[in-house]
Amino acid sequence: MEPSDLATIRAALERLPSRCRYHGDDTAPPPGLIRREACCDTGIPTQRRKNALAALERVEKGATV
Ligand SMILES: [Zn+2]
Repeated sequence: MEPSDLATIRAALERLPSRCRYHGDDTAPPPGLIRREACCDTGIPTQRRKNALAALERVEKGATV
């Protein structure tokens, strides 16, 4: 993978909303019997952004070792 590939992916992810309109930064799914992806439907893109950026950082670390 080229370094520019990582930058391309990061730029796309950063277009996702960084905050939920209703729950702000706190987009983690609430504990409960029903497994949910995020705080609410509006927070799903934000939660996906967080998860994807964290995964990207792991890839970047692996790529530079
Ligand atoms: Zn929310």
